Parts: sequence; C-alpha cells; structure tokens
Amino acid sequence: MHIVFQRGALVSDMRSPELCLIAQEQVRQGGWTILRRHFLGYWREQPCYALEIDELDQLDPMQFQTGNLYQILGRVDEQLFALAGRASQLLDWERDHRFCGRCGNEMQVDMDERAMRCDPCGTINYPRIAPCIIVLVTRGEELLLARNANFPRPMYSTLAGFVEAGETAEETLVREVREEVGVEVCNVKYFQSQSWPFPNQLMLGYFAEYAGGDIVCDEAEIADARWFHYSDLPMIPPVSSISGQLIQHYIEHLTQSI
Ligand SMILES: [Zn+2]
Repeated sequence: MHIVFQRGALVSDMRSPELCLIAQEQVRQGGWTILRRHFLGYWREQPCYALEIDELDQLDPMQFQTGNLYQILGRVDEQLFALAGRASQLLDWERDHRFCGRCGNEMQVDMDERAMRCDPCGTINYPRIAPCIIVLVTRGEELLLARNANFPRPMYSTLAGFVEAGETAEETLVREVREEVGVEVCNVKYFQSQSWPFPNQLMLGYFAEYAGGDIVCDEAEIADARWFHYSDLPMIPPVSSISGQLIQHYIEHLTQSI
C-alpha cells in the first residue's frame, strides 16, 4: 500500500474508506512518476510506503483529491493517521536535505539508518522532530482554555509552545504559561505524547495546577483566555488531538471523584 503526496499535498482516494491508502495497482494504472519513496511500516500486515509523485502527473478528479493531513485527522484510524504523518515528515525531510548544510555537496539517503549522509564531509541529518509542550492548567473544577489569535474558528484550547534549545520540557511549560496568560503553575504531571505532523511536532502533554496570578493574555498569540467550569465548556478540540484528550481525561477524573 502507498501513501502518496504530490507537491507536498496528500492524495486521497475518495472511493476508498481508508482515504489515504492507495494500492500498488492504482499507482501503476495512473502511470505516476515516483520521485521519492520511503518504507513506513506495515498496515494490516501489508508493507506500506510513502511516495512523492511528480507534480505533472495527472490525477483523475473523479477519484482523487489533494489536500492536507488535517482533512483525514479523526476520519481514518489513528494508526493509519500516524503512518500518513510519518510519510509526510520523511518526504519533507528528504526534500529539505538534498544538499549538505555544512559543505554544500549533494547528500545521499541511507535507508538502513534513515539518515541523509554527506560522504565528502561526514555530516549526517536525521528526520527533524520539534518537541512542544501542551498543557491543561486546572483550578479545581475549572479549566484554563485559550483562543489562539490565529485560530479561524472560535475554539478554545489548551496552551502549547515549542521547547527551546537548552530547556527542559518542564521549564518550557512554566515559561509558556507565564508568557501566554500570565499565571503561575505547580504540580506539573506528565500525561502522554502525540506525534503532530503539522509539520513535525512531538506534543508532550501535561496537566498543571494553578498556583497564582491573574490572566493577562499575550495579545500577539492569544485572543482570549478564561477559566471555564467543566460543565460549561466552549467549543474545544476533538479527542483526535491531545488537547481534546487532556480535557476529556481531566473531566473524567473530576466526575469520577464526585
Ligand atoms: Zn558535507
């Protein structure tokens, strides 16, 4: 099976319930030119590959559409989404590391180690993953949720930010919460992580308890942030995202302990 990208866009088969899985037969019938190919793993015991096809290849508009990974999030099996996310990240990584950043020579793909190598100078580049923290700040029955200034929809979510060079995840968490909404937190507890291929984040999910301060939003990033009682929440992210899972998990914990 294949997960196919063209000009960086995911190719979906509208006739298939699995949307982003495209059979070998269809790749052949379409006469598509394969520019890049990576082994991804197995899907229901069948080997699965990421393919980047040529931008001039014709796709039958009655069967295929191109789009981004968001369009299949929550619509396909979680494991399949993870494979599609891996596909997108590996193809982007190979495209962006064709030349050595140190000496400028062409790099070679090392399929065994999944690395890009520069033989003349010995530089090795591995796929890039950007760690981010994502945190649900709570105060008893209330949840601190914020609306991002760049969200197109009136959705309130947990706070998140990139880990900077030299920082621990816990330090990032404290800094981000302070910068974005001006409050202090304590009792930081790790929840779980999620690969988030938009484009290459690893989201590290945490719970933290409110420790002090009034909400003061960083206007560049946050349009609005408030405390919401768990029984009266605004529009929140779906449980296909770790943000939705943090919220759901906390509410389950609250309602079980009442
Ligand atoms: Zn080099």
